[in-house]
Amino acid sequence: MGYLRAVDPFPLESGEHTKLHEFYARLAEGRLVTTACAGCGRTAWPPRGFCPECSSDQFAWVDLPQEGTVHAFTIQETGLPAGFDGPRVFAIVKIDGHRVFSILLTRDPAAVRIGQRARLTPLRVADDPKGGARWLPAFTPV
Ligand SMILES: [Zn+2]
Repeated sequence: MGYLRAVDPFPLESGEHTKLHEFYARLAEGRLVTTACAGCGRTAWPPRGFCPECSSDQFAWVDLPQEGTVHAFTIQETGLPAGFDGPRVFAIVKIDGHRVFSILLTRDPAAVRIGQRARLTPLRVADDPKGGARWLPAFTPV
């Protein structure tokens, strides 16, 4: 089957599509990074190529911790986007003060609790139209 952009639920991650492609490249290496503004030093989540605080467009990549805390979650059992198997746990994982909207990988959604620790587990999703690997941030309860 041909590539159908209209039903592709995942971002185009390559350098030709986004100047934030380093985020995905490092995620593929098992690292969670974000942008730190070169002007005022603030870190952002999600990563940003433009600082809303000081208007600088200069930034550096900084590593975030590999573990965070489940801040909120919801379990979706039906109506999942194409490419997702259910039930799927979507969670906000708090890491270093940032609230990271993510997928929680677990075989037992009923056991998920607010406040539990979760560890970065990058999730490989469908390849991009040119066959390049794509990754999303995901976490596993620990
Ligand atoms: Zn700034």
